[in-house]
Parts: sequence; structure tokens; C-alpha cells
Amino acid sequence: MEFRRLGKSGLQVSVLSFGAWVTFGTQLNVDAALELMAAAYDHGCNFFDNAEVYAKGQAETIMGEALKKAGWRRDSYIVSSKVFGGAVQNPSPIQRGLSRKHIYEAAYQAIDRLQCDYLDLYFCHRPDRNTPIEETVRAMTELIWRGDVLYWGTSEWSAQEIMEAYAVARQYDLIPPTMEQPQYNMLTRYRVEVEYKRLYNNDTVGLGTTIWSPLASGLLTGKYNDGIPADSRVNLPGYEWLKAMLEGPWGQNSLPKIPGLAKIAGDLGTTLPKLALAWCVKNPHVSTVITGASRLEQVTENFAALDVVPLLTDDVMAEIDKVLGNKETRLYGSSE
Ligand code: NDP
Repeated sequence: MEFRRLGKSGLQVSVLSFGAWVTFGTQLNVDAALELMAAAYDHGCNFFDNAEVYAKGQAETIMGEALKKAGWRRDSYIVSSKVFGGAVQNPSPIQRGLSRKHIYEAAYQAIDRLQCDYLDLYFCHRPDRNTPIEETVRAMTELIWRGDVLYWGTSEWSAQEIMEAYAVARQYDLIPPTMEQPQYNMLTRYRVEVEYKRLYNNDTVGLGTTIWSPLASGLLTGKYNDGIPADSRVNLPGYEWLKAMLEGPWGQNSLPKIPGLAKIAGDLGTTLPKLALAWCVKNPHVSTVITGASRLEQVTENFAALDVVPLLTDDVMAEIDKVLGNKETRLYGSSE
């Protein structure tokens, strides 16, 4: 396993990590979740990602039970939660968002569900345009001062919103965000490669990134090339929106790129999922790639992706860019 600093913090996170979205509480019970987490942990994974909103708190409850059963030393892994969407069905306005009240309550509820004394990472899952950023930065800082959270960050915030949080923290001697959790994969690149570019500089935010959906919910495995397999997440009740995305313009524009990517993987003697994950790891601004899996063989395959990173020469990366046709070079230059 390779470890990378989470932005300019001193926290070393495994470059491949493991998350609970969709799977925990929907496809996996405690024992199945533990089996996959243990496989990831045995491969050197030290970060498990979660959120209050995943299965309305159930994903955190399952992860908490799994961690208890595993019995690993608390100082051997990093666990996260995210606040914004609420952990109840149809949350009222005070049961969601980034007010001080909800940030505090969500943190302590997550700590209870995860059965941990503190959260290593705590993310603002989305920006909240109904709460002043100063209130959010103060609440996050207070949680860190109380020892209940170690590092705070954002998820899917614009560069401007992250800079505002950073500026507020600097102005009032509060703690700025350490990391952002954006979507990043071969099909979704702009934000990580272009929009955040200046935030990686250690003279400013020194932003770390814990990137999500590296396989674009499975599309980048090739499993949707010939229709929708019955046992995939796209067929789960509650995920009709994902099916609509796959069958809509996004899926239809993306699917024709898959055979070209699969050919590159084949020529390298590897598989498409491993190529797609290694491609994310190749970006030095990615601190960790949060993988997801609903069965053991997927974890085994995904954690072998690190072997593919050295095969991604400049020529191979250029070949991939040619198939993807989505590398942005016009505004700020290349992603390097
Ligand atoms: P991926 O895009 O990698 O999708 C994972 C899914 O793809 C698996 O559950 C499985 O689905 C399928 N899959 C995985 N590996 C393989 C393989 N080797 N071969 C075939 N199919 C495979 O990641 P996720 O979308 O799950 O996101 C990862 C994590 O990121 C989440 O768990 C969560 O922690 C975080 N996240 C954060 C978000 C945010 O807003 N901050 C949003 C979304 C995710 P199937 O069951 O269909 O086989």
C-alpha cells in the first residue's frame, strides 16, 4: 500500500480506501460488511468512509458493529462521517444542513452509531447556502477543539466556497478545511484537475482530496456495456435515478468510450476496473481513492490496482485521453 499526506496535514492516508455508500445497509449486513472491510484492511487500507445520510444512519451503525467485531486498534484506522442530508426520512429544516445545531448533533449521533470516541474526518457533505460559512467554520473548529473531530473538510464545494471557508478561518483564527471529497473518475475530471488547481498549493489551502465513485458507479468496469446486470446497484429499489442516468445522455455518451478503454487495459495485461482506479491514483492531487464494493472479489480486484500505476506511462495516459476526449487544457493549462 502507498500512503499519502492528506493535503498539507500530517495524516497519512492509504491511497486506496473503502466506503459504505449504497452497499452498507442496502446490499450488505454487518458480517458481509466486515468481510469486505477486513479484506481492504488486510491490503493496507486505513480509511473507511461514511456519512449520516447513507441508508439513513444504518451504514454507520453497520460499520460501527463491524469495527467492534474486527477488534482492530483504534489508532490503526481512520473513520469519517459527513453532515448535511440528515439521518432521518424527510428531515425537518433543523435536522439537516450546516447550522451549528445540526453539525453538533450529527457529529455526536455519528460517533454513537460508529461506536468510536471521535471522528477522524468530518465532512460538510454539500454546501449549505442557508447558513453563513462563518457559522459552519466555527462549529467545525469547536468540534476539533473539543477533541471530537480531528480534521474537517468539505464535499462538492466549489473552489470559491472552499476559499471563503479558508479566508474566514484565517481572519478569525479558526481551523480551515483540510480536505475535500469530490467525484473524480475518467468521466468526471474538471473540478479536481482544473477548478481546484490553486487550492493544492501549500501556501494557500494545501487541499487534500478523498475522491468518490472512481468507477463511476460501476460504469467504468464494463458491466453495463450490454445492458443492466440484475445484481448491480442500478437495479436496487431507491436507485432509479441512477438507472435513469445510465439510460440518459450521461450513460449514452459514456458507454461508447468503454470498449476503447477496455482495449488499453487488455493491451497492458490488466482489467478495466484496475486501469480506471490506477488512473485516479496516478493524479498526485488525489490523497485517497475511496473504492466501493458489494462483494469480496471486487475488493480483491480493486486493491490490486496499485500494480497497474507504474504501467501508466505518458504514452498510455495520452492514449486514454484520446479515448476519453475530455481533458481540459484551455483555461489553466494541463492538469499537471
Ligand atoms: P465506485 O464508482 O467505484 O462504484 C462501486 C460499485 O461498482 C460497487 O459497489 C460495485 O457495484 C461496482 N464494482 C466495484 N468494483 C467492481 C469490480 N472490480 N468489478 C465490477 N464491479 C465493481 O464507487 P462508489 O460510487 O461506491 O463510491 C465509493 C465511495 O465514495 C462510497 O462508498 C462513499 O464512501 C463515497 N461517496 C461519496 C460521495 C459524496 O458525495 N461525498 C458520493 C458517492 C460516494 P455493484 O454492486 O453494482 O456490483
